[in-house]
Amino acid sequence: MQAVIDDVHEVYAVRYGHHSRRSPENFIGGDPHDVLQPLDFYVWAIVGPAGTILVDTGFDKTMSRRRQRELVKPVRDGLAALGIAPEKVTSVIVSHLHYDHCGNHDLCPNARYHLQDREMAYATGRCMCHQSLRAPFEADDVLAMVRKVFAGRAIFHDGHAEIASGLTVHLIGGHSKGLQCVRVKTRRGYVVLASDATHLYAHIGSGRVFPITYNIEEVVEGYATLNKLAASPRHVVPGHDPLVLARYPAAKPGLEGWIARLDIDPKD
Ligand SMILES: [Zn+2]
Ligand SMILES: [Zn+2]
Repeated sequence: MQAVIDDVHEVYAVRYGHHSRRSPENFIGGDPHDVLQPLDFYVWAIVGPAGTILVDTGFDKTMSRRRQRELVKPVRDGLAALGIAPEKVTSVIVSHLHYDHCGNHDLCPNARYHLQDREMAYATGRCMCHQSLRAPFEADDVLAMVRKVFAGRAIFHDGHAEIASGLTVHLIGGHSKGLQCVRVKTRRGYVVLASDATHLYAHIGSGRVFPITYNIEEVVEGYATLNKLAASPRHVVPGHDPLVLARYPAAKPGLEGWIARLDIDPKD
């Protein structure tokens, strides 16, 4: 890895999972084109002066079977390919508590976990009495986070907050009540890791909404926020789009289709 200066970070998208599906499943109101439009699953690694910070922790083999989502490469293998030792990860930013973002509970034994007040309240409160709202959550994931709270390893935020110099989180809501995105200063300007604030480029690009949604107003307002936080629309990185790996260069030779580098301009 290259040396970094000041508050400038390297950013990587690490693909770990895949789910084949058709486009009508990805939008409220469906999609007239009805084409294959799969989702990829990622975690993101941010390397900077404050050390290595992970955004989300993905899911493991057990969850992949339970949810019938393909585990392509375990998250730990992706980090190893980048030379990142999980024990050295100091902070994990949890975008939200859906099963595909907060599994692998013991991956980073020395990290503290940053999440929004509203997400923890949502995932442990009355909304989880309703099947339609709790469907993307797993009780074991939420319990694991509660245990981290009691172990003194959780740091709560309410709105936007600075995690390190040049690295901030911002409450979006919408898809999940306490969903947050991450803004990172890089050598190509501010990159925004949207996570599920936009699953695909097509969502933010067309103003359409993914079916799992707590509040549609916050989703579409969130698109505007993502664009405002990012240096340009090309600096917004969707949470589940296979195009991320097509557009950005591989982190190094041999990692094509697996790990992309996001602090270098995309190809198109
Ligand atoms: Zn989600
Ligand atoms: Zn997701």
